[in-house]
Amino acid sequence: MTDTTLEAPRTIVVIGGGQAAGWIVKTLRKEGFDGRLVMIADEAHPPYERPPLSKAVLAGEADIGTVRLVKPEDFAALDIEAWQPERAASIDRAQRIVRTESGREVQYDRLVIATGGAARRLPDAIVNTPHITYLRTLDEAVALGERLRASQNVLVIGGGWIGLEVAATARKLGVAATVIEGAPRLCVRSLPPVVSEFLLQLHRANGVNVHVGASLVSLDRHPDDASRVRATLADGTTLDADFAVAGIGLAPHTAMAEAAGLAVADGIVVDEFGATSDPRVFACGDVANHPNAWLKRRVRLESWANAQNQAIAAAKAMLGSTEPYADIPWFWSDQYDVNLQILGDIPTDAELAVRGDIAAKKATLFHLDNGAIRGVIAINTARDLKLARKWMNQGRTVDLATLTDTSAALA
Ligand SMILES: Cc1cc2nc3c(=O)[nH]c(=O)nc-3n(C[C@H](O)[C@H](O)[C@H](O)COP(=O)(O)OP(=O)(O)OC[C@H]3O[C@@H](n4cnc5c(N)ncnc54)[C@H](O)[C@@H]3O)c2cc1C
Repeated sequence: MTDTTLEAPRTIVVIGGGQAAGWIVKTLRKEGFDGRLVMIADEAHPPYERPPLSKAVLAGEADIGTVRLVKPEDFAALDIEAWQPERAASIDRAQRIVRTESGREVQYDRLVIATGGAARRLPDAIVNTPHITYLRTLDEAVALGERLRASQNVLVIGGGWIGLEVAATARKLGVAATVIEGAPRLCVRSLPPVVSEFLLQLHRANGVNVHVGASLVSLDRHPDDASRVRATLADGTTLDADFAVAGIGLAPHTAMAEAAGLAVADGIVVDEFGATSDPRVFACGDVANHPNAWLKRRVRLESWANAQNQAIAAAKAMLGSTEPYADIPWFWSDQYDVNLQILGDIPTDAELAVRGDIAAKKATLFHLDNGAIRGVIAINTARDLKLARKWMNQGRTVDLATLTDTSAALA
């Protein structure tokens, strides 16, 4: 909660230099904050957006110029002390000081932790090859893209969003791709079975060799060529490739917050204004766990829209706004000729009303509760999702027959 008894901030320090950090500094200046603004970021690049990393950047079609959040001249105009590349090491809340790994320190009136997370690593015990890569940063995406374009085939470990987008980009580049997923279906945590099945068929139709329910036992040097890899599955199947990419989730960067005594539970615990258990310290983006009004529960979201809008709300709250962050969760993915968007609450066992034809790659799936839309999955139907978002925000009830009747446009 915005603590109105605190003095107005003169120095605001932001740890992190990603999308959420970028929106914090942009919004603070836009809202008129003219004090000292320090951004401590361990990547050398100015704030940039990550969604293109598994798509256009990986395909070699985009670079830092197209993904940066703020144009260089506009960034300079924000008058930020950007400590980059510099890694924050600790937070002393009693003295309100952030110390960095290189020994610098800065005192804050307000602190924002926007540290995102790191790609989860496979356990060392099962990896016996250096030819395994991960994807989180721009530099990793550029390196992975170069490697992909020089390869014949790639093994993707993990059938979640990042793994599937990497596989789709590989196919686009003419590289053979194999995906192994331990769960019985793709994107098991975020999709109902019917959409997982749709993605499975989509990838298979595009030539990806997908193994679901496939438990990886080890990833080794190929016995005949140590520059290649061999994966062994629990059932004894072996799969060979030039190299492997793992997309097995995100580990939020919470250690520093935890060491500073802030509440942490699947992310840094914040309220609807982005404030942590210390009213001088805020957190937002992938690292923050917030009470979501639409879902009616706490959640840590890993999405572009959340990184932007939660950061905007937190920046305004630091300057005294009492408007809570209350967006309906929204995420999208692009794979082949499919744009898939998820809005709101879709329990994986939700009953879904289908408008259109899933197999024809044009369908909208609605999860209803007493005639009101709780969540939507749009497969190449961005317009339907936009309309549904409006109705959801208005709390409007809808008629099932009208929703599913494709002979009449939604209106
Ligand atoms: C490959 C990829 C594809 C994606 N595609 C989509 C998509 O299609 N649709 C969608 O909705 N979302 C997508 N996302 C998710 C979206 O990009 C993230 O939700 C968003 O980037 C989160 O922003 P953030 O600022 O919270 O964290 P980040 O972008 O991770 O930024 C955090 C920054 O803080 C730095 N940092 C961490 N610790 C420290 C420290 N101690 N000191 C200094 N700096 C530190 C990190 O290195 C990093 O640069 C994708 C993400 C990835 C990785």
